[in-house]
Amino acid sequence: MENTDFPAISEKLSQPLQILITTHTNPDGDAIGSSLALAFYLKKKNHRVHVMAPDPFPDFLAWMPGHEDILFFSRDQEKCISVIQQADMIIAADYNNFGRLNDAAPLVRQSKAVKVLIDHHLNASDEFDYKISISRISSTSELVYNFVEAMGDVHLLDKNIAECIYTGIITDTGSLSYACNYVKTYLIIAELFRLGIDGEHLHRLIYDTYSESRLRLLGYSISDQLIVMPEFNTAFITLSASDLQRFNHQIGDTEGVVNYALSIKDINLAALFMERDGLVKVSFRSKGNFSVDTLAREHFNGGGHRNAAGANCDTTLEDTILKFRKILPLYQSKLKSVYS
Ligand code: 5GP
Ligand code: MN
Repeated sequence: MENTDFPAISEKLSQPLQILITTHTNPDGDAIGSSLALAFYLKKKNHRVHVMAPDPFPDFLAWMPGHEDILFFSRDQEKCISVIQQADMIIAADYNNFGRLNDAAPLVRQSKAVKVLIDHHLNASDEFDYKISISRISSTSELVYNFVEAMGDVHLLDKNIAECIYTGIITDTGSLSYACNYVKTYLIIAELFRLGIDGEHLHRLIYDTYSESRLRLLGYSISDQLIVMPEFNTAFITLSASDLQRFNHQIGDTEGVVNYALSIKDINLAALFMERDGLVKVSFRSKGNFSVDTLAREHFNGGGHRNAAGANCDTTLEDTILKFRKILPLYQSKLKSVYS
């Protein structure tokens, strides 16, 4: 499904507005990258702009230009409520239903502001006035580049914006290893380099800043907590609250862990179950045409992309895993041949 309401959004932006850019809970590189890139751009267009996330981003993004100004609903509710109430336009970046704003969702839904979606997930909800929603695109950050281009404003891009867009593309494609089989992504990256980014430096900032305990948690996840089920071409990792405590878990420490389970030959479905804040956070990854978006939506009230999706379950860790094990036989034949 594609929605590109560029002309209508462009018309709305023709006068100075108070704009609130919002992104999803547990914000990742694309959530923060696309929001900040959009904020820099819209400020250059003479709008007043705030960026708000429900909760903080991982430390490995704390170098990003403009990150200091992001508001977190969980930390600064009063300020967030005031910017929600004052907004003429609320943009949803990198998520597609307001439910992913957690406690901020009801206030945003009630707001009279024009609601705009800029996102690349499947199955956008219909609670937006205008949508730019293209699911085949690598990242929302790439979509922000396309948006600026469609607005005829490529000349307004600068190194800060380029760094934000590059971070979003790189983190959402596993450093250009999936969801990036389109020429345009690489043409955009070439433009970002022309704007002066240092790709090697950015890679070090994003990926080479593990704490010792984060690396040991990764080791433990793989050596002790990985369960491989060759009969279902599936592998999964479980981390309890006490596991996380033992390794002094910080936000972002488990980012990427699930991909190791998927890297096993003939494993086509991988999952990570993590006990966090009284819920079980699940990450799904898949290869080929096996849709974890469908799996997450149908069984776990979650969603995402075909090959990367997530969910938050209010069942216990044991029950969530039991349920997962129970549904695997339903998908056994699909999981065998994901490239046919
Ligand atoms: P991750 O496993 O990295 O947290 O998320 C993978 C993808 O699924 C991301 O694109 C993320 O936005 C989406 N996702 C994660 N959790 C949820 C969820 O609870 N609901 C929905 N709809 N999408 C999610
Ligand atoms: Mn994204």
